[in-house]
Amino acid sequence: MKYALVTGGSRGIGSAVCKALAKEGFPVIINYMSREDAALETKKAIEDAGGKAELLQFDVADLKSVDAAVTYWSSTHTDDYIAVLVNNAGIRKDTLMMWMDDEDWSSVINTHLNGFFYVTRKVQGDMLKKRWGRIVSVASLSGIKGMPGQTNYSAAKGGIIAATKALALEVAKRGVTVNAVAPGFVETDMTKELDENTLKNTIPAGRFGKAEEVADLVAFLVSDKAAYITGQVIEINGGLNT
Ligand code: NAP
Repeated sequence: MKYALVTGGSRGIGSAVCKALAKEGFPVIINYMSREDAALETKKAIEDAGGKAELLQFDVADLKSVDAAVTYWSSTHTDDYIAVLVNNAGIRKDTLMMWMDDEDWSSVINTHLNGFFYVTRKVQGDMLKKRWGRIVSVASLSGIKGMPGQTNYSAAKGGIIAATKALALEVAKRGVTVNAVAPGFVETDMTKELDENTLKNTIPAGRFGKAEEVADLVAFLVSDKAAYITGQVIEINGGLNT
């Protein structure tokens, strides 16, 4: 069977993506870092709706953790493969560069950019062998236009966008598409301390986006209807970058 692995699937956008992909018929592997409670809630919501889901804990920023978890999963699913990968796990450590310490920089780069590399490299082989695969990474408007206070995050997301374009060219002939989505402000735990009332005035649509709206876009990119879309960055931001 074709499984979908969603990193950071326990909460926010990742949780909504897990539910959307399950609705499309994919058995979903919900990755999480530490919030098993939230991952179990996502799993229950999928099962209550008639879908199939399982949990897989690993730290995307830790090569050994990624390798061990995915190798274990494959050994227990010899007739299945990860056909869809959604690189979604992420953190923010915002501060002006003059105050940014080494850990603020490296943890954000490791989680987003190294995480993209470790997980994608590990699972793409099966997609290439089976000649069908979908890789969608959740980038950000910050990786396209830069945001003050986010040099670490903008660099990581910009790196994912560039890697997405390069990888898309490597694997296109094998039926594997590689795309990124770039949300603006989306209502999740990651943005809950932001001043939504003030910030929404800067957004042409006049509101933050919903995790489900990003998830529907990811579900489309994963579908057969999107087979000819690859190497693209699709912005979803209520007109913020127009
Ligand atoms: P969130 O609600 O804070 O959720 C973050 C998720 O990432 C959680 O499931 C968390 O797992 C997981 N995670 C964090 N570090 C991890 C690691 N090292 N290994 C595995 N999982 C890890 O964030 P969100 O807003 O949904 O963001 C999801 C993605 O969208 C991120 O890549 C973010 O940069 C991007 N994004 C968000 C916005 C926005 O406005 N919200 C805008 C643009 C882009 P635990 O539950 O176990 O902690």
